[in-house]
Amino acid sequence: MVKETVDGAYQSEQFQDIRASLQRGQQHPACVTCWRTEKHADRSPRTAYTQRMKEQGIVGTAGDHPRSMTWAFSNTCNFACRTCFLQYSTGWMRETRLLAEQGDQQMQSDLERFEKQPWDQIRLDEVLPHLPHLEHLELFGGETLISTKLPQLLETIVSSGHAGHIDLVLTTNGSQPPKPWMTKLFAQFRSVQLTFSIDAVTEDTFRYVRTGDWQRVQESIDQWFKQEVRRRCTITFSTLNVWDCDRIMSWCDRRFALGNVNYNWVEQPAMYNAVNMPEDMKHHIMKQSTYWHSRQVLPNMFTQPHNAKLWQDFVKRTAWLDQSRSQTLEKFMPELYELINRWS
Ligand code: SF4
Repeated sequence: MVKETVDGAYQSEQFQDIRASLQRGQQHPACVTCWRTEKHADRSPRTAYTQRMKEQGIVGTAGDHPRSMTWAFSNTCNFACRTCFLQYSTGWMRETRLLAEQGDQQMQSDLERFEKQPWDQIRLDEVLPHLPHLEHLELFGGETLISTKLPQLLETIVSSGHAGHIDLVLTTNGSQPPKPWMTKLFAQFRSVQLTFSIDAVTEDTFRYVRTGDWQRVQESIDQWFKQEVRRRCTITFSTLNVWDCDRIMSWCDRRFALGNVNYNWVEQPAMYNAVNMPEDMKHHIMKQSTYWHSRQVLPNMFTQPHNAKLWQDFVKRTAWLDQSRSQTLEKFMPELYELINRWS
């Protein structure tokens, strides 16, 4: 886990420089991915985040203390999504070790940098002094709702007396239904939002991309719809699922309602970035798409040109994981299998 402190990051020269550039309306080079995206698509993580902050009334110049925090407090996860890695998921431990043993430098570096991190007490001690000023706290993992430390963390915030002015946001992979302790603690916060991470919407594609059980996830989401929490979803698009954009977007729009569906575009690991696909494949996916909402997503494919090396890395990693997980792309995602074979 990164050990930059909360205060150190907030007051750092780079952070201040970025804030000053944004206030002057200048495009800071650290935000190049968002500026590039905005040239081709009508939204980027930057504009989506700004919109969210506006909705929550967090506007104006930055003060001495952060009013909004996002904290990856544990990497314990019950999934091992293909686009994830050890920093965020302990599910990746076995395959990170195997790939490192086979000479993969990135995996070796991940093994050295990231370990099982069920809890970060040092970070909590840094966060606590900021609670009086906090209006928005976003927790993600790992899978936040399986962390045995989550109840203790929420209880600590509640007993500090500050939960009443904090909008709590928890990202979840959807595998966990509500439990009585969650209902009890969530009721103490000014508001609670669950952001469901949805990257596939059929049994086979969900099993292949996320390693989880789509039927159980749907049942869990149904149960959360009976609770007093706001529900949103975020779709993460990569080479693995961009071809299925229409089906995923339309499912999420129907289930969560328009305005509650956001998306991320995978930049890392770089081999999963869908910009790397052959240009003809991108145009084919664009031409096949008929769902209106996909038009906000698919232009992202054209923000950078085809990268032959990263495309081949993706094809090789997919084959390696298929063997490691006893899955075959041909069986689980025949559509993508056919596209890869046509353009490899
Ligand atoms: S559910 Fe989230 S944290 Fe877990 S493996 Fe998937 S992407 Fe990573």
